[in-house]
Amino acid sequence: MNKAKRAAIIAGNWKMNNTPSQTTALINEMKPKVADASCKVVLCVPYVDIPAAIEAAKGSNIAIGAENVHFEKSGAFTGEISADMLNELGVEYVIIGHSERRQYFGETDETVNKRTRAALDAGLTAIVCVGEQLTEREQGITAELVAMQTKIALLGVSAEQMKKVVIAYEPVWAIGTGKTATAEQANEVCAVIRATIASLYGDEAAEATTIQYGGSMNAKNAAELVAQPDVDGGLIGGASLKAEDFSVIVNAATNG
Ligand code: PEP
Repeated sequence: MNKAKRAAIIAGNWKMNNTPSQTTALINEMKPKVADASCKVVLCVPYVDIPAAIEAAKGSNIAIGAENVHFEKSGAFTGEISADMLNELGVEYVIIGHSERRQYFGETDETVNKRTRAALDAGLTAIVCVGEQLTEREQGITAELVAMQTKIALLGVSAEQMKKVVIAYEPVWAIGTGKTATAEQANEVCAVIRATIASLYGDEAAEATTIQYGGSMNAKNAAELVAQPDVDGGLIGGASLKAEDFSVIVNAATNG
């Protein structure tokens, strides 16, 4: 697999952390530390932090993302945020189907697909999360499960739209637990996802798709994970809340 054909992306997922003023301070601290990155750098932040994040990141190499998006364009969906709303703020990326959304907020493969299509229709880049639970890994069904999640997420997504899809392989048992997949485990499942994309869109599209690993990636283990042939960067939770740790991860990832 030729890594030069796709971008490595290190994306932070702040989850429900940081107020707007904390957002400004943290991004200002991060900017000089990630300025020489040879990968793409993204911070996905809570909705209310987006304007502060966009302002703080202006003129830097940090792009801003959201952590979720609703699939309808507008209407009676109290508390929800549409892709057009994000677009108008200057958001470029959106995380879809994070395991915490699936676990606590009723997200299903079907709603992941609807959100993915809504994000892509609005021109956003969708970071689509897939991954198995520990029991599923123990049952030996990781590959089938992740392939199925990937296929359902991409139903109705055109080959052109695939250029704006990033897949994040996030084993649920590794998220926020301090338990990281081994580099081999991460690479093996990222390769399954790439083969799934190849079966749907062809080899060229599969080679051009960024597939991240996420799950307790940190300053110590990032270099080995992102060096894997099928791992194109990472989706980073806890370690994206600390400028120093995040910058070490960013600087471990290179394009191509
Ligand atoms: C995540 O939230 O996507 C994630 C990978 O979290 P953590 O890095 O904290 O495991």
